[in-house]
Amino acid sequence: MACERTLSILKPDATARNITGKINAKFEEAGLRIVAQRRTRVTREEAEQFYAIHKERPFFADLCSFMSSGPVVAQVLEGEGAIKKHRDIMGATNPKEAAPGTIRAEFSLSIDENTVHGSDSAETAAEEIRFFFRETEIVG
Ligand code: GDP
Repeated sequence: MACERTLSILKPDATARNITGKINAKFEEAGLRIVAQRRTRVTREEAEQFYAIHKERPFFADLCSFMSSGPVVAQVLEGEGAIKKHRDIMGATNPKEAAPGTIRAEFSLSIDENTVHGSDSAETAAEEIRFFFRETEIVG
């Protein structure tokens, strides 16, 4: 399997509850390496741009409000098959459906406050990484 990079975001419910280290431990235990990381805030406009694919969905406004409601931690994770591995560790979008041991099963409060974001394909990963990081900020 190829070495990949994927974009991870620890959402505002993770920073609010001070559990970013616990989440990072899960990534590292699974063999993913954090090769870039920045705690930041996204504006509502940036959230709308980042999640533009969902703009017709009924949850779009709430999603963008939530993502701009507090600090987030944007990260690039690197490893063998990183995109799928990261999605597997995150668990299903709705924490009620997330498998035991996944981040969303363990930590998420609801489908809205679901703690983590992860790119869903190689193409999206490249685009989403560019959204947050310059190539020189990624140190593998
Ligand atoms: P993800 O890749 O698992 O994060 O899911 P998506 O990319 O499909 O959706 C982006 C985010 O929008 C999710 O993480 C949820 O917080 C939210 N979301 C997705 N589907 C729903 C839904 O049916 N209802 C609500 N309230 N939020 C949703």
